[in-house]
Amino acid sequence: MGLEVGGSKTTVAIIDRQGRVRLRSETKTLRGRPPMATLEPYVRAIEGLLTQARSEGWSVEGIGVSLPGTLDYTRQRPLLIPSIPALNAFPLYELLQQRYKLPVCLLEDMEASLLGEQRFGSGQGAQRLLYLHVNAIVGAAFIVDGKIAGHEYEQRLRQYMGHICHISVSASGPRCSCGKRGCINTMISLDAMQKMVQRAVRRGDEGNLITRLVNRETLTPRLLAEEAENGDSVALQIYSEMGRWLSNAITRYVELFEPHMFILGGDILCSSAFLLSSAKSAANADTNTNARVRSLVKVVPGLLGREAALLGSVIPLF
Ligand SMILES: [Zn+2]
Repeated sequence: MGLEVGGSKTTVAIIDRQGRVRLRSETKTLRGRPPMATLEPYVRAIEGLLTQARSEGWSVEGIGVSLPGTLDYTRQRPLLIPSIPALNAFPLYELLQQRYKLPVCLLEDMEASLLGEQRFGSGQGAQRLLYLHVNAIVGAAFIVDGKIAGHEYEQRLRQYMGHICHISVSASGPRCSCGKRGCINTMISLDAMQKMVQRAVRRGDEGNLITRLVNRETLTPRLLAEEAENGDSVALQIYSEMGRWLSNAITRYVELFEPHMFILGGDILCSSAFLLSSAKSAANADTNTNARVRSLVKVVPGLLGREAALLGSVIPLF
């Protein structure tokens, strides 16, 4: 059984060894409530699916949980879950284990996504695998020889992982919340996308994308992708700018982690092929050595899209 806690929606599912979702239940993620009230809808969904699974004659082997934040060093407890602070330091592992008498495993969402892509998605067979997730912020996880780097070893890499969104890719870029300039987080996140649109508006650029935003549509990766497909010049320009930064970021990550394969996931990257293709053309236009080294690394989009963390959450139990 996989439990993927998301910022707005939580999914509970029975997943088989081939990565197929056999039963699924979705509930709204509750915020601003005490821990037990936050967990109550999940508990109901878990119990509902366990009953259904039993009536199908399936044996459930454990519960894997993917959480949108960081876990403490021993991996037994949520440490910092920014969207649901009620779960910070909550003994979720013990609660699930005692209540259901099943093996339980907690993972950070980036790690779950990476494990999902490695087992069932585009990362099959790669020994050193880096996953970069771009959404509201930039996150990453790294696998070496089938294991998530940093749980017991490669602590140095794990520290990098925690701060990957603060790796600088442009010395002249905007100032980041951490104080440095041009962190990747300020160049290709949702927030960065917003700021690029605002700059286009200030320059007096016109087009369908800007008209839709003026008419109070919300800027989402999907909207940007749609307009780029229609040939909107502002949307295409934003993709080309983000593509350049993504290409720089990939070079930096390759230098640091030496992955064999680089998987890109998250809403901004999954919504459209434009970003990846503009990153690739930026890489081809770049003639320095690093770009040549980087061309040896396979850079691919994730295959599982939004299902990656859910499918990956159960993998340590297999
Ligand atoms: Zn920063």
